[in-house]
Parts: sequence; C-alpha cells; structure tokens
Amino acid sequence: DAVDPATAIAAEERLVARNYRPLPVVIARGEGSWVEDTRGRRYLDLLSGYSALNFGHRHPALVAAAHRQLDTLTLTSRAFHNDRLAPFAAGLAELTGLEVTLPMNTGAEAVESAIKIARKWAYEVKGVARDRARIVVAANNFHGRTTTVVGFSSDPVAREGFGPYAPGFTVVPFDDLPALEAAIDADTAAVLIEPIQGEAGVVIPDDGYLRGVRAATARAGVLFIADEIQSGLGRTGRTLALDHEAVRPDLLLLGKALGGGLVPVSAVVGTREVMGVLRPGEHGSTFGGNPLSAAIGSAVVELLATGEFQARAERLGKVLAAGLDRLTGHGVLRHRSRGLWAGIDIDPEIGTGRELSERLMERGLLVKDTHGSTIRVAPPLTIEEDELTGALDTLAEVLAAP
Ligand code: PLP
Repeated sequence: DAVDPATAIAAEERLVARNYRPLPVVIARGEGSWVEDTRGRRYLDLLSGYSALNFGHRHPALVAAAHRQLDTLTLTSRAFHNDRLAPFAAGLAELTGLEVTLPMNTGAEAVESAIKIARKWAYEVKGVARDRARIVVAANNFHGRTTTVVGFSSDPVAREGFGPYAPGFTVVPFDDLPALEAAIDADTAAVLIEPIQGEAGVVIPDDGYLRGVRAATARAGVLFIADEIQSGLGRTGRTLALDHEAVRPDLLLLGKALGGGLVPVSAVVGTREVMGVLRPGEHGSTFGGNPLSAAIGSAVVELLATGEFQARAERLGKVLAAGLDRLTGHGVLRHRSRGLWAGIDIDPEIGTGRELSERLMERGLLVKDTHGSTIRVAPPLTIEEDELTGALDTLAEVLAAP
C-alpha cells in the first residue's frame, strides 16, 4: 500500500533531528533524472542531491560496479591493502593531473584532511613556527559542517551557537585578488577556496581570478587548495571548474558525485611532495578507501574519462543559460550559470525562493532555494534537452502566474 506522505512527514519530524526543512515530498524511487513519490507521482530532479547525482539516479554502470563489488569484498579498513584502492587512485591521478590520493568519505572530511595536510606542510616544509599556521579563506564560503569549518563560515545560521571556534583562519572577500594577496604572510600555509561558490548561490568569479590565485600562491610559496566538492566532476562543462582557466591546485578536494550518488566518497588529491607530509598513524578513516567506495569511485572516473558528461553539461548549459536570459526581467532578476549549474535570483515581489520551490514542486520540478530569493538549479548531467526546455517552460509559467 502507498505510504501516506503526511504520515511519513509527521513521523520524520517527530523522530529525526530537525536540522533540515525538506520540501513536502516523500521520495520512494529514482531513475535517471526522475524521482517518484510514495504515490507514484513523478518529479524531475533539478537539484541532483546538491550535485552528488551528476550521473542521475542509479546510473546502470555505477549500479553494476556496486553489485560486482558487493558480491566480492566491501570493507577491509586500511590496516590491510585492498585490490581496488590503487586503481581508483590511478584513475583520479589521470583525471586530475595530480599524483597522490587520500581517500575519505564526506566532503567535510576532505576539507578537514586538507587543512591538516596544509598545516603539517607549513611546519615541515615551509618552516612556519609551531601552531602559527594560518589558512586564507573566502567570505560566503561553504566547506561543510564540522566545528573547525563552521568557525570560518560567514553565514550566521551555520556558525552561531557552535563556538568556540578554531583559530588560524583569515577571511577575505571572494573574487578580490588584491585582498587575497594582502592577507598572505609568512605564517600562511594555504589559500582554500571554492572556484565557484555553490551554496552562496553559484557565485562565479571574474575571468582571471583563479589564474591570479594560482599565481599569487605560487609566488608566495603557499598551497592553493581548491574545494571542487560541488563544482567538480563535470558539473560546469569541464571535469573541474578550474579547467576553465587551465589552473592546477596543490590540493584538490572532491566529493559528492565521486560516490556516484550511491555511497559517500571524497578525496584529497595532491602533489606527491605535499601529500608526502602524512605518515603512518597521523591521519585515517575506518571507511576511507574501502573497496566498495573505491570500485564505485573508479566507475565514476571511467564515466568522466569519456568526456561525454562534460560535453553534455557544456552543450545543455547553453540551453539553460539562454532560457534564463529570456526570463531575466520576467520574474528573474539575474542568474549566474556555468554548465548545468545556475543560481537564479527571483524577484522578491514574486515570492521567496522557498515559496517558488514549493510551487515548482506542485508542477513536478524539484529545486532548492538558497539564501532568500535565490534558487539553485543543478540537474543530473544525464538530463535530456526536451526535459530541460520543459522545465524552463514550467519555470516561466510559475513566474508569470505565481
Ligand atoms: N565543500 C563544498 C564546496 C560543498 O558544497 C559541500 C557540501 O555542500 C561540502 C564541502 C561538504 O560536503 P559534505 O556535505 O559531504 O560534508
């Protein structure tokens, strides 16, 4: 029998911590770009699990890789070697042009791991005095929810009430190269930024900023850590958002889509020199690099190695941006788009982002608001062109008759 959505929602609200405010839909199935609720109603998924579902729900190649591995070996811990981890790391090195992988699980863990690596590198290689290392970050960043990471967030909702905060971070405005250069000093270990700020509303820096960050960090002898947990793995029409400026960081953070929407998989991928500061016992994770995650991660890397998804994101991204251009002045104040990723600022007269998300949901489209009147669109990269144009038509209708 179909589960009554109201009953399911009431139970979740009673039994599950209220750290989210989900749209009132109870999803029971997913395939490709579509999900189905408990009553069999279909919705086009334009959020993709915050870009964890870049390949859609249950991509056949990923599900097959998972099934094969489930029937073979799932977990060893890194007390022992497993036969899946090195092939995964080899694939990541090939895909990113970097050398050595630290496998973790969630995005926040990858960020925390990179902070540890950068500090250790600062003490051992750069020669920063003990406990003096600092990391320069950007305002309006989103790097996860751990205590250290929320401590350098500029979002009061993410930050307030969770102190005391870890010291050692300097916040500068995003997309402001002089401010960033001025913040780097002898104690700086690294600059940590998202090449495109996702949670902030898909904020894209001016052309040349990322090249400038690379040049400034190289000149100052500090590490450039790029958090591509949301922007990476095909979303922007390239493998990495940094590829738009042909920039390679010292440490690259991947997550979300790296697990294919099946399991949590994240990684720090870096140069051999920097990653070499971690020695046995100094860092770890029970689940990081487990054979199931590594097999799925390898299958994700194989999908991306064809270039097909990046090309789709680029081609359909033009359709998305053109559609949003047409809506600008008709309910859309402005939009920022790169590949199949857009932050859309809605005219507040029409309603909040939340209200608009609810109206779109009633018409079979799932999106998520972020910060007031902004909605974020990030469809699976498998979406068909007619599905995308249909979604744009629905958005136009909702904006015209709210
Ligand atoms: N970094 C970025 C850029 C993100 O967008 C996110 C999640 O939205 C994270 C880190 C944290 O990832 P997770 O939720 O897997 O810890």
